[in-house]
Amino acid sequence: MNDILPDEVVRWQRLEAAFRRHAELQGYAEVRTPIIEQTALFRRQVGETTDIVEKEMYSFERHGDDLTVRPEGTAGAARAYVEHQLAAKEPVSRWYYLGPMFRGERPAKGRYRQFYQAGCELYGDAGPLSDAEIIDLVCGLFRDIGVGEFVVHVNSLGSGGTRDRYRDALLAHFEPRKDKLSDDSQRRLFKNPLRILDSKDPRDREAAAGAPSILDVLDDADRAHWQGLLGYLDALGVPYVADPSLVRGLDYYTRTLFEVKTKAADLGSQNTLCGGGRYDNMIKSLGGPDVPAIGFALGLERLLLSMPDTARKAGPGAVILPLAPEGAKKGLVLARDLRALGVVAELDGRGGKLKTMLARAEKRGAAMCVILGEEVQRGTVAVKDLAARVQDEIPLESAARIIADRLGQPRAVPRPPAQPGDPQTPGPAGEARGPR
Ligand code: AMP
Repeated sequence: MNDILPDEVVRWQRLEAAFRRHAELQGYAEVRTPIIEQTALFRRQVGETTDIVEKEMYSFERHGDDLTVRPEGTAGAARAYVEHQLAAKEPVSRWYYLGPMFRGERPAKGRYRQFYQAGCELYGDAGPLSDAEIIDLVCGLFRDIGVGEFVVHVNSLGSGGTRDRYRDALLAHFEPRKDKLSDDSQRRLFKNPLRILDSKDPRDREAAAGAPSILDVLDDADRAHWQGLLGYLDALGVPYVADPSLVRGLDYYTRTLFEVKTKAADLGSQNTLCGGGRYDNMIKSLGGPDVPAIGFALGLERLLLSMPDTARKAGPGAVILPLAPEGAKKGLVLARDLRALGVVAELDGRGGKLKTMLARAEKRGAAMCVILGEEVQRGTVAVKDLAARVQDEIPLESAARIIADRLGQPRAVPRPPAQPGDPQTPGPAGEARGPR
């Protein structure tokens, strides 16, 4: 579990804002659900024989409830969708979320025990068109934030009858090889042979060679959905590969399954930036109506490791240096007036020599210093532009307005920092400049 210090948070905020923007452009709205849910929710939806449920959940008992700190966001969102009867209120719901998830995994670069996911969930549309659009949402975001080369792996797990037929075909393949499988896979063989395809264990990998492909057993409706999806991905120019070995570590998926992997970053085996798929049975299994759904989650830490490192924390617009005895009171008021005009203003009340104070302001990355020395008695302050290295004296009375104008500030409310993808910014490579 990591601390994320203010210097790093700048990049997080940019990524989060870009994600929100792309999701909102496709009509998604944010949902916030509790971080703790009933353990049974994850057991049933994520699946008893998954790694997450078998060994990674942070679960505890309190006040007679069996609770779990959420390992993923889809089950909680679906629970809320059913509980608040969204299906009766609107035919299609598009939700997104952002927040921490918790899995007791073995930590590695790009794999943590508390990590952040941003995800989208689309309820109420079964067609492959929505699958293609949601995949394209992720690709658009990745291009915008400057993720290097990436590729979308897609597969279909089929639905209902297809899944059962595939399970039988897999059993027939693995049963004669049972002794060669890892302990986990031997245990899961009869309960959930699909999980073996997801195993990283070299013994399981070897045994899986030549296993039947699910794409060979899709029924007509599943095949039409699958081919429809590939056609739409082609139309959108999405860089994809059909990958029948893709299974993913959660049991709830039906039909479309996808992962977006980066080719560029040195994330090793943690190169999956995003995972998602269709889960057409979950809403019904939670006691809701028969509503199809599709969603994805992306890992923010891994994305940050794959993004160009251009965002910098913007320094304050003005640092105020009260030197004269009456400078402190005037400085307090000036700082407040500057902030009211949208200028980030900091007071340096630590005293010392002017040279030292100027050096400190420069180190903070300030654009300007306002010196309140003996000139205050004349009703003026000295303003030093730290980039241009020029200094002049201006009337104290109108100092806030003049400084705000020089910094190019709006006159009323502060503006949020420019975000990657904003039309007026040069894109991910542009230098970060918050309000000053
Ligand atoms: P999942 O919920 O397992 O489908 O994962 C979706 C995405 O979340 C992955 O592609 C990763 O980017 C990210 N992710 C999953 N587990 C972790 C973890 N333990 N640490 C960091 N990121 C993770």
